[in-house]
Amino acid sequence: MRRNLIAGNWKMNTDIQSTGNLIKSIKELIGNQELKSEILVCPPFTNLQIAVSESEGSSIKVGGQNCDFHTSGAYTGEISIDMLKSVGCSYVIIGHSERRTYYYETDETVNFKLKAALSGGITPIICIGETIEERNAGKTYDILERQIRGAYNDLSEDDLASVVIAYEPVWAIGTGVSATTEQAGDAHSKIRKFILDNYGHKPASIRILYGGSMNDKNSGELLALEDVDGGLIGGASLKAEAFYSIIKSSEENS
Ligand code: PEP
Repeated sequence: MRRNLIAGNWKMNTDIQSTGNLIKSIKELIGNQELKSEILVCPPFTNLQIAVSESEGSSIKVGGQNCDFHTSGAYTGEISIDMLKSVGCSYVIIGHSERRTYYYETDETVNFKLKAALSGGITPIICIGETIEERNAGKTYDILERQIRGAYNDLSEDDLASVVIAYEPVWAIGTGVSATTEQAGDAHSKIRKFILDNYGHKPASIRILYGGSMNDKNSGELLALEDVDGGLIGGASLKAEAFYSIIKSSEENS
């Protein structure tokens, strides 16, 4: 049984005060329900500490939006896996398309970061996805396979068993246009099959999240898909009610 993961990627939004308020509101909406889904929020680095202390005693977990692959040293502006762990993070997002596009991250740096997260004991969420040009050119699965091969390079079956993948078509991120259920269902099942055929059973039983304009209106149908094991949510995760509606859809589909 794969446990759904509902993860909020807050990107470069919120400050200390609004982080505390947003977590308080999500906590109030969840109340004392025992959730079947796992809930994660990924605020900016500067707000991780308040996020961790505000979510204490609740089922909300906290993660980073990025990390460096070095362990420590002269890497100005970077944050290591140990630093994320020391503040109380249990997850880290790696290779988000915004980082690949604006900060020139490559499949190789994604692979280094994945190795750093796995050896440091933080669960990595690896983002993969095609651009609209790649989809229109019929290259979607070539791109997804290249990104998976690049990320997974030189890792064992056991290492790969704890990875989370987020399928995030680049054209759906922040656009308000999500993948259709047919597109998402097809991509998720092909990703799982590719992992099964090339890396084995354990790596193929990981959670595969959908990301790209998931919101309170479309989450029900997306989360009902067989191979969709949760969501990585940007915009809608900044509104407590919308995020909670997605959590409810996940509960109904768990
Ligand atoms: C994301 O940034 O991971 C994302 C899916 O954003 P949005 O939900 O806003 O499309």
